[in-house]
Amino acid sequence: MTLVEALVCGRCGRRYAPGDMEYTCPEHDGVTGILDVRYDYERLRDQIDAVLDGPTDDLWSYEPLLPVDGEGVRLGAGGTDLLDALALGDALGVDALVKNETTNPTGSNKDRGSAVVVSRARQQDHEVVACASTGNAAASLAGYAARADLECRIFVPADLPEAKAVQPRLYGATVIGVDGSYADAYELCREVSADRGWYNRNAAMNPYAVEGKRTLGFELAEQAPAADWVVMPMGNGCSLAGTWKGLREFERLGVLESTPRMLGVQAEGATAIYDQFVTESETVPDGGTGRDTPRSNDEETTADSIDVGAPHNAGKACRALRESGGDAVVVSDEAIREGQRLLGGCEGVFAEPASAAAVAGVRTARERGVVEHGDRVVVVATGTGLKDTASAQQAVEDVVTVDAAGDGLPEEL
Ligand SMILES: [Zn+2]
Repeated sequence: MTLVEALVCGRCGRRYAPGDMEYTCPEHDGVTGILDVRYDYERLRDQIDAVLDGPTDDLWSYEPLLPVDGEGVRLGAGGTDLLDALALGDALGVDALVKNETTNPTGSNKDRGSAVVVSRARQQDHEVVACASTGNAAASLAGYAARADLECRIFVPADLPEAKAVQPRLYGATVIGVDGSYADAYELCREVSADRGWYNRNAAMNPYAVEGKRTLGFELAEQAPAADWVVMPMGNGCSLAGTWKGLREFERLGVLESTPRMLGVQAEGATAIYDQFVTESETVPDGGTGRDTPRSNDEETTADSIDVGAPHNAGKACRALRESGGDAVVVSDEAIREGQRLLGGCEGVFAEPASAAAVAGVRTARERGVVEHGDRVVVVATGTGLKDTASAQQAVEDVVTVDAAGDGLPEEL
């Protein structure tokens, strides 16, 4: 038995028994009532010491806190390193740490969500899992589905970087390229999954998709209890919201004395969560999350993982930013490329542009006086850059070309 107590609608507050509802609250027409998973925290408190005593090999080290009965699907998600980032910190004027999520088994933090969702799908005898994705969730769901011997269907926008379209197919998934945006892929995935009875991973539908991401918060609470800030890119908003939920829970369970502030970073081409956060901060001091999914104008950004025009979890992300006393910033593609060079050159972490946006976000927040000199700042490098070398190409110097005898090698090298 899991310690899930109820599913609570973020829009109307209705509570459902865990077995009664698979996806969203049915009380809302045309908008999404995303359900939040609530646990029996009294009983979790009884188990937390035993959880913390053991090593954190992977996210299943936190099994009593996860909504999975019995053996979860194992591929190695979680238990990632927190790196002291002295050179990066010098460049940014902060005490920097890098949470290196690029080493997750399929290359991103999405593996934390997929581990839990695929484990639940297997336990409930689903045969097919599906999701819409800008790439990382696709690879992650496909990899975990392969391990669990489930079939996998992926809906992607047709302009996906090549490696991101290849990786899920290598894991045996069927990839459906949708001639449209991520929002179009999401909607088609929702319709087709409902028609055909596929288990839908999408975090704005599936209340359990965000639950694995809490383990990033758990790990940060253990690894960096004195952090002032946790900085994350925001696409759909659910990674940041899930991480914050984990941090809050560890505070509630007495593991963490005080929680860090969350800094959410978006790219100039996709600013919907930032826009909502700023608008709500101006008009509703104590915040509301009842707005429909916000939309940003349809620009482009090199950070494809966070190029989400209509983020379904914007409300959750804004609430996390507000509850934590945090803030949001927007960064340019040029600043993202600089962030990629800094993460690689200072710390040896080859991160994708979305992750580099977090580095750029620290610089912007320093300039705005939001993050102060010397603050202890965790930058979450959410995914590897190896899946999108075409973007990285724009951030690096040209190859030095010489002949076989070495002629042409610059003297200054
Ligand atoms: Zn509701």
